[in-house]
Amino acid sequence: MTAKDAAVPAVPAGATPMMAQYLGIKAEHPDALLFYRMGDFYELFFRDAEIAAGALDIALTKRGKHLGEDIAMCGVPVHAAESYLHTLIAKGHRVAVCEQTEDPAEAKKRGSKSVVRREVVRLVTPGTLTEDRLLEARAANHLAAWAELRGEGALAWVELSTGALGVTAVSRGDLGPLLARLAPSEVLANEALVLAPADGRDPGDDAHAIATVIEGSGAVMTPLPRASFDSQGAGDRLARLFGVATLDGFGSFSRAELSALGAIGAYLELTQKGALPRLRPPQRESAGRVMRIDAATRRNLEIARSLSGGREGSLLATIDRTRTGPGARLLGARLAGPLTDPAAIAARHDAVDWLLSAPGRLDALADALSRVPDLERALSRLALGRGGPRDLAAVRDALSAAEEIASSIAADDLPTEIDQARAALSGHEPLADVLRTALVESPPHLARDGGFVAEGYDAALDEARILAREGRSVIARLQAELATETGIETLKIKHNNVLGYFVEVTARHGDAMLTHERADGSRFVHRQTMANAMRFGTQALSDVEGRIVNAGARAMEIEAGVFADLAARLLDAHDRIADAAGALAVLDVAASAATLAAEADWVRPRIDASRAFTVQGGRHPVVEAALGRAGGSFVPNDADLSADDEGPAPIWLVTGPNMAGKSTFLRQNALLAILAQAGLFVPARDAHIGIVDQVFSRVGAADDLAAGRSTFMVEMVETAAILNQAGPRALVILDEIGRGTATWDGLSIAWATLEHLHDVNRCRGLFATHYHELTVLSDRLRALRPATVAVREWEGEVVFLHELRPGTADRSYGVQVARLAGLPPAVVTRAKAVLEKLEAADRGDGVPELLDGLPLFQQAARQPADHSPTGGDPNATAIIERLASADPDLMTPREALDLLYELRRLVRDRDQSA
Ligand code: ATP
Repeated sequence: MTAKDAAVPAVPAGATPMMAQYLGIKAEHPDALLFYRMGDFYELFFRDAEIAAGALDIALTKRGKHLGEDIAMCGVPVHAAESYLHTLIAKGHRVAVCEQTEDPAEAKKRGSKSVVRREVVRLVTPGTLTEDRLLEARAANHLAAWAELRGEGALAWVELSTGALGVTAVSRGDLGPLLARLAPSEVLANEALVLAPADGRDPGDDAHAIATVIEGSGAVMTPLPRASFDSQGAGDRLARLFGVATLDGFGSFSRAELSALGAIGAYLELTQKGALPRLRPPQRESAGRVMRIDAATRRNLEIARSLSGGREGSLLATIDRTRTGPGARLLGARLAGPLTDPAAIAARHDAVDWLLSAPGRLDALADALSRVPDLERALSRLALGRGGPRDLAAVRDALSAAEEIASSIAADDLPTEIDQARAALSGHEPLADVLRTALVESPPHLARDGGFVAEGYDAALDEARILAREGRSVIARLQAELATETGIETLKIKHNNVLGYFVEVTARHGDAMLTHERADGSRFVHRQTMANAMRFGTQALSDVEGRIVNAGARAMEIEAGVFADLAARLLDAHDRIADAAGALAVLDVAASAATLAAEADWVRPRIDASRAFTVQGGRHPVVEAALGRAGGSFVPNDADLSADDEGPAPIWLVTGPNMAGKSTFLRQNALLAILAQAGLFVPARDAHIGIVDQVFSRVGAADDLAAGRSTFMVEMVETAAILNQAGPRALVILDEIGRGTATWDGLSIAWATLEHLHDVNRCRGLFATHYHELTVLSDRLRALRPATVAVREWEGEVVFLHELRPGTADRSYGVQVARLAGLPPAVVTRAKAVLEKLEAADRGDGVPELLDGLPLFQQAARQPADHSPTGGDPNATAIIERLASADPDLMTPREALDLLYELRRLVRDRDQSA
């Protein structure tokens, strides 16, 4: 239940002024939890309070009455608000932060009953977060908007920490893969397209389908009014956002693209309430720039997340050797969207090569990078007015490292990426110098804590601090100066509440003080005569007094001014600093790839526009790392799927025992293509890959019960997607297709799928199966290459060699593997006996001959009696017919058991008659 579900209470006539204000503000934000600032707390009321108290596990209390009912209330302390916000956002809520925007004293002036003015200063939503504590340091946080105009779709996306804004045309069919790549945390959509119409009409399949795609990507969907997507207004809004008169300089955009970009702009205005982020000019991504990888393939290949859903155990986590948050985020983005342009890929590889080409180069860079803080996010917070002194220090440290790195790169003969990085990292010395002199080493998080400006940077601040901190010693110094000046050694400076600070001398020295003429011609001002003493004032003393009393506040004020000045200077240089941040991330990613190459023997792949795919000594990076931790070693394998420009491309038909390493081999080759085209090096001895524009993977079986689909249905939906979409440059890996249904149905589907891939899709492929019968297809499908994973049998045990060889497996060794897995010995013995019988029967009857192009069940029906799988045995025929007529999907467990008994009876009958 969200706050939106709760009707906003009406403002009744007798409401207190505060409650009237609260209800007015709440009415403007019905779908967000309202954090209403009251002193040191954010308070929540009514249904908001109930929701927040439940979500945050905090006490729900009451405050007064509304329409005769108790008002539910809960609150969070302002200083700890971030962690509460984090929990609420993670649970899918949105929060409107409402602050006091005037001094309570000001409000009082309007009358004793007036309420402090309050305004919502920010709407906190998943896609618009900037705080470190609300974000994952090593993952990007995208806000996306999907628009559709006259059947043309577009998606725009922004990363607030970099200000990077992207947009591309995308059809409904391609929206899922694109969202899977960007993994946005929030997607804006036109409510007219994704919500049920207000008049209760059926939203229609379309609206439902789009909403399912968006929510299926794991993002929070935020429907916005149609006006936010108005493509006419979008141009003006964007021009305003970028401070330009026209968008022409940014290139041309379709109306759908403008609409999506405009919706992002409108939403930023709505949520940031005027404190707009600095955005980079929108980059239009052309269709086909990146490899298409759909959500199922990403999941199956465990690219950014493992099957259990976490980062741990994924490809990304295994290869991530970056030293900075921005580097990790860029690596994630590159791995999520491998390129399809050989030249652009080569530019990335060149940078890695360059780092490896001189001893010490990589180490020096890695060392400098390890001292670089998260420049991107610090800069974005400063731009949004949410930064603090620690963000200034982050910019300082990053720019210092940038200079150091730039000067360590000699200018000649650099690959493009390194050269561009060097240019972007140079020239920040003046700004870095200012920050170095202005800031203390480790400043506090918040400007209001003070104490972050270094000594010596601002003379007035130094004095204020001295006065505030060392008021006594300033007085003591003044006292000593006055004693010397007057020659009265016993002169004292004292303080009381009536006179404040004053000079006191004993009565004996009173006259001398009264007649003493000071250097500037003035005299001490007589204040009071006591029985034994006389008291005086001086101009200097009253100045000092004024300054001491206000020194603390003054110091804070000066620091706030210094902060604002420094922040303004940084924002003046915003784009240059953002470029430097981008360059540091690029270097970090190159260094990460180079580190792997150096420590784990990864090599530069050759990428070109051919349809080659030759891998020598390839390894699965994640399995290899896991084996390494367990003290084992990975057996490298070759793969050759190279094809000429036309005609069917090779498909390896991989058979082999359970646990032999078939799935590992399939996946490792897909991962190699992804790594290579992401611009990274690969775990192999050598690799030559002609551009792959789509990777499809269907591995293992997974229920999608939430979407109401069974294992087999999911398998078929994903297989259908592959067969319908894979083009000649695709790389398809299919693992055990058809395993989710009855053997013959499954074999038929696998058979037909293989033929379709070979004849129609004509793409490079790897196909693992336990249906050894499929190998007969290699006679007809000329590009089909049977391969098998070798095992050795030794004293009844199966030894896995994990080596791919040409040929076909003779058997699956399933029973041996089941024994290894700990099946009870009685079951293993029984299974062996059953297997022997089945195999004997199979040998006796001969393998059914499979006719090209005919589904197997039809063939079985058409076999003449003496060539039938049963050799004409009526009992065996009865068994087969009984089995063929049974539909396991429609049977109850009881019926299945009955069938088993019936079959056993038939087998016994057959044994007896034999
Ligand atoms: P099944 O048919 O039962 O699905 P499979 O043939 O697909 O099995 P995998 O799941 O790929 O087998 O591999 C099983 C295990 O074997 C892996 O988890 C890994 O520990 C090990 N393995 C796979 N390939 C290799 C290899 N090349 N070198 C060393 N160990 C390997």
